[in-house]
Amino acid sequence: MASYSGNIFMVVAPSGAGKSSLVNALLAQEPDMMLSISCTTRAPRSGEKENQHYRFIEKEEFLRLREAGALLEWAEVHGNFYGTPRDRIDEAIRQGRDVLLEIDWQGARQIAAHFPDAVGIFILPPSIEALETRLYKRGQDAPHVISRRLLAAGSEMSHAHEFQYVIINQEFSVALTQLSQIVAATRLRYATQAARHADLFSQLGISNSAA
Ligand code: 5GP
Repeated sequence: MASYSGNIFMVVAPSGAGKSSLVNALLAQEPDMMLSISCTTRAPRSGEKENQHYRFIEKEEFLRLREAGALLEWAEVHGNFYGTPRDRIDEAIRQGRDVLLEIDWQGARQIAAHFPDAVGIFILPPSIEALETRLYKRGQDAPHVISRRLLAAGSEMSHAHEFQYVIINQEFSVALTQLSQIVAATRLRYATQAARHADLFSQLGISNSAA
C-alpha cells in the first residue's frame, strides 16, 4: 500500500462540450488513472455498456445505495439520479492511484467538501453555437431531450467559477494537452511530492508538510 494518497480530478462540463472524448483520450495516456464508474437510473443509450459507461440501476436500488452511505456524492440531473460509488475510489486513493470523476457541479461540490485537495476542471465549448451543433450531431437523444439539455447547459456553466481550472475545448488536441498539463502540475504539488519522496525530503532536511 502506498504511503501517499492519489489525487482526485473532477471533470465537469455541460453536455456537448466534448468532455467524454477528452477524458477518454486522457485515460489512454494515463493507464494508471482510475475512472470512476457512476451509478445512474438513466436508461442506457445505444452503444453504452454496463460497468463501462455506467452501472445502470433501478431507482429503488439507487435510493438503497444512497441510504446505505455507499455513494460518495449524488445528484439528480435531467430527471435521473447519478452517483459515485464510494468503495473503489477510497481504495484507489489509498493505493496512491489518481482518480478521475466525470460528474456535474452538484457532485463536484460534495466531493470538494469531502476532499478539499480535489482538483476541479471545467470544460467550456468555444461558443454557444458549437454547443448546439454538437448536441444535435450526437443524434442519440430525442429533440425534446436536446432542448432540455441546452437549457441545462446554461445552468451548468453558471457554476464554472467554482472550479480551479477552465479549458475551452475549441481544438481537441490543445484541450487534451491542457488537461494533461493540469494533471502533471497537480502531481508536483508540494504535499504530493513530499509524501511520494519522503526519503529524499528527509535526506535533504526539507519539511515534509506543505506550508
Ligand atoms: P449523461 O446522462 O449525459 O451521461 O450525464 C448527464 C450529467 O450527469 C453529466 O453532467 C454528467 O457529468 C453527470 N454525471 C454523470 N455521472 C455522475 C455522478 O456520478 N454524479 C454526478 N453528480 N453527476 C454525474
